[in-house]
Amino acid sequence: MNASTLYYSNLSAHTGMQAQAPPHSCQHNKLAPRLSRGSVVCRASSKPLRKADAVIIGGGVIGLNTALTLLQKGASVLLVERGKQLCTGATGAGQGYIWMSHRSPKTAGWDLASASMDMLKRSDPDFLAEIELQATGSLLLARTEEETQGLGERASMLSKQGIHAQLLDAGAVCAREPALALPHEGSGLWVESDLQVDGRKTAAAMLAACKVYGAHFQLLMGEEVLNIQLGQQPVRTETSEHLVIGSLATIVAAGVWSGELLSAATGHSKYRQLLRPRKGHLLEMERPPSMAALKSGMMEMSYTKHYAHSSEDHLRVAPTSEEAAEGVAADITFTATSSASGSLLLGSSREFVDVASNVSAQASHAVVEAILERAQVFLPGLVGGSVLPDLIRVGLRPFAVGGYPMIGPVPGHQGLYVAAGHEGSGLALSPATAHLLASYVLEEPANMQPDTLQEVLPATRLLLAEL
Ligand SMILES: Cc1cc2nc3c(=O)[nH]c(=O)nc-3n(C[C@H](O)[C@H](O)[C@H](O)COP(=O)(O)OP(=O)(O)OC[C@H]3O[C@@H](n4cnc5c(N)ncnc54)[C@H](O)[C@@H]3O)c2cc1C
Repeated sequence: MNASTLYYSNLSAHTGMQAQAPPHSCQHNKLAPRLSRGSVVCRASSKPLRKADAVIIGGGVIGLNTALTLLQKGASVLLVERGKQLCTGATGAGQGYIWMSHRSPKTAGWDLASASMDMLKRSDPDFLAEIELQATGSLLLARTEEETQGLGERASMLSKQGIHAQLLDAGAVCAREPALALPHEGSGLWVESDLQVDGRKTAAAMLAACKVYGAHFQLLMGEEVLNIQLGQQPVRTETSEHLVIGSLATIVAAGVWSGELLSAATGHSKYRQLLRPRKGHLLEMERPPSMAALKSGMMEMSYTKHYAHSSEDHLRVAPTSEEAAEGVAADITFTATSSASGSLLLGSSREFVDVASNVSAQASHAVVEAILERAQVFLPGLVGGSVLPDLIRVGLRPFAVGGYPMIGPVPGHQGLYVAAGHEGSGLALSPATAHLLASYVLEEPANMQPDTLQEVLPATRLLLAEL
């Protein structure tokens, strides 16, 4: 399964299909035929050809982790990323929560998160140091009696799943985290086992780990995938500079842009509708010297509403009325973490935007102000603090209708796979996602918890089969 570079003159293609007029992207060569199925095949392209067992489109945390997992299992990998550097997509904005406390058991998200956390903990200690894994624990924060009651219910729900969760009153929370201010009726749910990583360092460490595989790993950085050609086996992909072939698999892991790529390739517009860009802002700032350092990761209780999907939701292929209405105004919920170097990350906003573009990913001054204002309610020591424009992170979370990612083979198209739609959890869910996808591609048993096998695998298959 060695990586190799071939050129067009080395190839002959036997499609058995009728040649037609050349498609637009091959117009420089009049001999280029088009298959009668409608898929574009640039057989006579002057672009150099590259081959590997698996071609991965997208170098965010999902594509990188999938690449690394396949390499570890002996496959050669070619990864195409259009950014000239890492983290130009949602991964660059990720806060780094690897948490269970805000999730609901008996859902695909829970199973993926739980399996991912176990895998992460078993990783090489040097790798964990590079990604700045911190055992910070987590605090979910309530400000009202009603929210405190909700935290109590959540504590018993988590405990039933074997996760030690402790409900603390406002005084105990503020004794633990002196920077916090909570009203008397407030409270906090402390989960010691929750973790935190640095999203950007995670991506960089994964890329470095892939490069250790030498010629088995090819990286086309700064190259955009223009189209995926499904007319013949194996699937071919045209980038701005190359034609690439994944002899076993072509994996679309392009975050929110995956829907567009899949719709264009399959002619099925529903992929575009299934993945929606959900914009998020995150602010990075130095902690004011008078404010106590944060020891734990924290978020306000209302954040859990973004994870309140039922186990049936993965069957849904249309947005709920709430999802459709969101986007009129950004939803702001307080989150805060402290990086290993001590700077503060404050979040976050959620709003659906129409198109995934550079323009839609620009920072909004009003949203930044609203995040800072909300953070000051919980952390009064921030009052008077300001955020430098270059320390504002904006990302388009890839939201899949139904709330769960799509992981697995694309029905009806042998050799084509998808791993996309992780919304606000891509960092937390990437290890199990990569493991599942590699199991599909290599036709190996996934050997994961029974819950995951029963719920996640059929869930993703069904979501795709609904199309
Ligand atoms: C504010 C914010 C906070 C977050 N906090 C957390 C958190 O605490 N924990 C957590 O787990 N998750 C968090 N997330 C979510 C997480 O960042 C995403 O779920 C994750 O990064 C998605 O990864 P991805 O690889 O699917 O997509 P992306 O990171 O978007 O990567 C997709 C890549 O595909 C490339 N691409 C697209 N089209 C093409 C093409 N045609 N050709 C070549 N390349 C292409 C893009 O350039 C991009 O690099 C947060 C997100 C935001 C916005």
